[in-house]
Amino acid sequence: MKKALTIAGSDSSAGAGIQADLKTFAAHFVYGVSVITSVTAQNTKGVIAAFDLPKDFVKLQLEAIFTDIDIDAVKIGMLSSKEIIEVVSCRLKYFKARNIVLDPVVFSKNGFKLLKDEAIKTLYDELIPLCKVITPNIPEASLLAEMEIKSIDDIKLACKKILSFGCESVLIKGGHFDSDDVVDILFDGKDFYYFKGKRINTKNTHGTGCTLSSAIAANLALGYDVPYAVEKSKEYIQGAIENSLNIGLGFGPLDHFY
Ligand code: PLP
Repeated sequence: MKKALTIAGSDSSAGAGIQADLKTFAAHFVYGVSVITSVTAQNTKGVIAAFDLPKDFVKLQLEAIFTDIDIDAVKIGMLSSKEIIEVVSCRLKYFKARNIVLDPVVFSKNGFKLLKDEAIKTLYDELIPLCKVITPNIPEASLLAEMEIKSIDDIKLACKKILSFGCESVLIKGGHFDSDDVVDILFDGKDFYYFKGKRINTKNTHGTGCTLSSAIAANLALGYDVPYAVEKSKEYIQGAIENSLNIGLGFGPLDHFY
């Protein structure tokens, strides 16, 4: 059985974070393991508070996994602080982790900061160069590329800027554009790939970004190349959103096992 690791935050309502990642791995028949960076008190209405684990404890979890289990792919989500990014980058380098997918999570839907401002430079310097794919949405891509993104041409320019930080490929998710079709653009330094999906009219989209990036990691673990892993993951997320669940008072979760 293939094995994938998620390095991310816990979501008590289980729609996003570690819980969404483990469900996504299971839906792909990939054995999932986890390293928790931060514990959030959260429900479908939003994140209320976050408690970061001590960096040494993040390190112990990484060492526990990598000294025992041969990991086929890694998904990285909420990292919260500079110290946690440093420890994660250092251990991933040391253990020569492969197929790393980074979802550069900055804010939750309700605007709670999941990455501190001073951590962004460390993300560029230490972690992005280790990644096979990074999956920012438009606001995250704007922040990383330091530019406004208002058109497809802007997305392509942002892809080039982000790739210059040293990752192998970048997937910018177009969901924040106000259009009927959602176009995500993948750039690998050579070709642009366009992934079109229909916008689904539902408020129950909690954890969509977490789920897409963990599906990509699962598909890389299964041995697919990046463009095909993204294509399969887009199909999966489309079905999971179409079947999303009306749980809670806010933004309900996806159905990972539709
Ligand atoms: N909570 C955790 C632990 C997360 O990792 C994320 C996103 O990656 C979120 C919340 C935000 O999810 P959403 O934007 O769907 O509210």
